[in-house]
Amino acid sequence: MLGIDLEKADSGSSDLQLVAGYTTRALSQLVLRTDISGMPLEWIDYKEAARLYHQEQVAYTCGSPLFKLYGGVSALTGFRTVLEVNSIVATVGHTGNPGNTRQDYVPPLNNQTLFRRDAHFCLYCAQRFPVRELSRDHIRPFSQGGRDVWTNVVAACRRCNNLKASRTPEQAKMQLIAVPFTPTYAEYIFLKGRRVLADQMEYLRAHFPRHSPLHARIKRYLS
Ligand SMILES: [Zn+2]
Repeated sequence: MLGIDLEKADSGSSDLQLVAGYTTRALSQLVLRTDISGMPLEWIDYKEAARLYHQEQVAYTCGSPLFKLYGGVSALTGFRTVLEVNSIVATVGHTGNPGNTRQDYVPPLNNQTLFRRDAHFCLYCAQRFPVRELSRDHIRPFSQGGRDVWTNVVAACRRCNNLKASRTPEQAKMQLIAVPFTPTYAEYIFLKGRRVLADQMEYLRAHFPRHSPLHARIKRYLS
């Protein structure tokens, strides 16, 4: 199964990196956990997934089988226990997912997700940069009452950030190439992903708002 590698995109020259099928079977592949109603919750590793299966917290699975985990020999049957873990698991109970219960939920702001939101572009000079060369620019600077919120921050290269200094884009005569947005919970989960498999991506996309700019970006890689 194909997937998209967001970690590779952090260090490199392109937006979302497509990864080949065989690498997606590695144990490092994360599983998408949802609640019982199918709302995305979080990424979990295979150990956490195994724990949920064993504690019978997995209500149903979606996506495709990812890997088989071999346990001990069952005293009852004499057979070795095998656990097949799927790429998406729906679990019982609610673990207080604020993104699904509150309309006004705002995901925490951090540079990794911010740079991914902006596809690693400097939103002023429209060049793409690796993460280490990007910085968080406050569109309206602190000194002019700007706040540290999703809609007031963009990825900017250091050169543009220095050039703009403590001015608004209008004052600096620098134009933004895109409108900054606050990710919804599902968008945030996607942006926080490491390597997102095609089926996980389709699943998350179904929860994105219709106007999400992420649709077009993802489509380019999965067509
Ligand atoms: Zn720039």
